[in-house]
Amino acid sequence: MSLSARWTEALDGLKAQGRFRSLTPPRGIDFTSNDYLGYGHWTAAVPAAPEAAAGTAAVQFSGTASRLLRGHPVWAEVEAELAAWHGAESALMMTSGFVANEGLLSTVVEPGDWVASDERNHASVAEGLRVCRPRRFVFRHNDLGHLEDGLRAEAAERPPGRELFVVTESLFSMDGDRAPLPEVVGLAERYGARVIVDEAHSTGCFGPTGSGVVDDLGLRPRVLATVHTGGKALGVTGAYVCGSRLLRDFLVNRCRHLIFTTALPPAVGAWWLDVLPRVKADAAGRVSLHANAARFRAALAERGVPALGDAYVVPVVLGDDARAVRVAGRLQELGYDIRAIRPPSVPPGTARLRISVHADHPPELLDRLAAHLAEAVRA
Ligand SMILES: *Cc1c(COP(=O)(O)O)cnc(C)c1O
Repeated sequence: MSLSARWTEALDGLKAQGRFRSLTPPRGIDFTSNDYLGYGHWTAAVPAAPEAAAGTAAVQFSGTASRLLRGHPVWAEVEAELAAWHGAESALMMTSGFVANEGLLSTVVEPGDWVASDERNHASVAEGLRVCRPRRFVFRHNDLGHLEDGLRAEAAERPPGRELFVVTESLFSMDGDRAPLPEVVGLAERYGARVIVDEAHSTGCFGPTGSGVVDDLGLRPRVLATVHTGGKALGVTGAYVCGSRLLRDFLVNRCRHLIFTTALPPAVGAWWLDVLPRVKADAAGRVSLHANAARFRAALAERGVPALGDAYVVPVVLGDDARAVRVAGRLQELGYDIRAIRPPSVPPGTARLRISVHADHPPELLDRLAAHLAEAVRA
């Protein structure tokens, strides 16, 4: 079979299953992006360079090289701000959350180690674990009993030198629910495992200064590392790993995803410095975000439309792929940008709408959407 025939066959298979995807431009009011706090619209001019930069302006749009070959002073400033925000020893910027997860896991976890991973963890976690090939235990979503079964069995036969890890998201991107983090951390401690938390969807949105769920629950000293992206609520690009100074040194020396890739542009660093104080101060945005989520969820419940989870990611499971596409299409006709989420992003038979409530959605708009959604689901 020729290469083009192989690809055509694969794509035809997806089309037959109603799973063919394409990249499409925005098509209405944004209920689909992860711009939870509405910062995605910010277009302020990139602020001037921190003067420390030796002759290189922070507005520069080229990273020019790996950070190890030619760094830029803006990143030390950004990382100091981030570490202080989280009350962590260190932060290390990476080019994206996907890269940060894959880089962190593939550097820290060695082939003889054992990793328990929630079945709904992001693809970048799965990818990191695929690369480092540990012994893997995928536990049922947020199922503490199942996690403990795995930990108990593993801890009983643990040879010296084998490390145990537990990886979970704090707020799950496709289910809109939170991991029972205090319990997960407690179990990990009982069996000598280290915890890594992906805070992609909670960064900016939880805690008095928005630093995330781990900090809000006071769990920082009890986790090995957290991963945060700027690409969601923070309205910027890039991501970072928070942890000990030793972890940072280890990553700087070993993480191929940092060493062998061009640094983010200094202009992006300047944007982080601009964004961070605004995020920390935006308690009002967080209040609106959670209030909007509660209002929208109540409006759906009133109309008999069940939704998963309890946060601003509001998944309405429709089951069948074609049905999800049809209902999303109807809502798009009505002016809402809402898209069907299908396998492999979610398990087969659980295709869904994933409505992303934002802090700046007017409450009446949320009510109107709930009414339209209830109609579209019943049609
Ligand atoms: C989006 C996402 C990532 C990847 O972050 P990017 O900065 O977009 O690459 C990682 N983990 C989770 C849970 C995500 O939702």
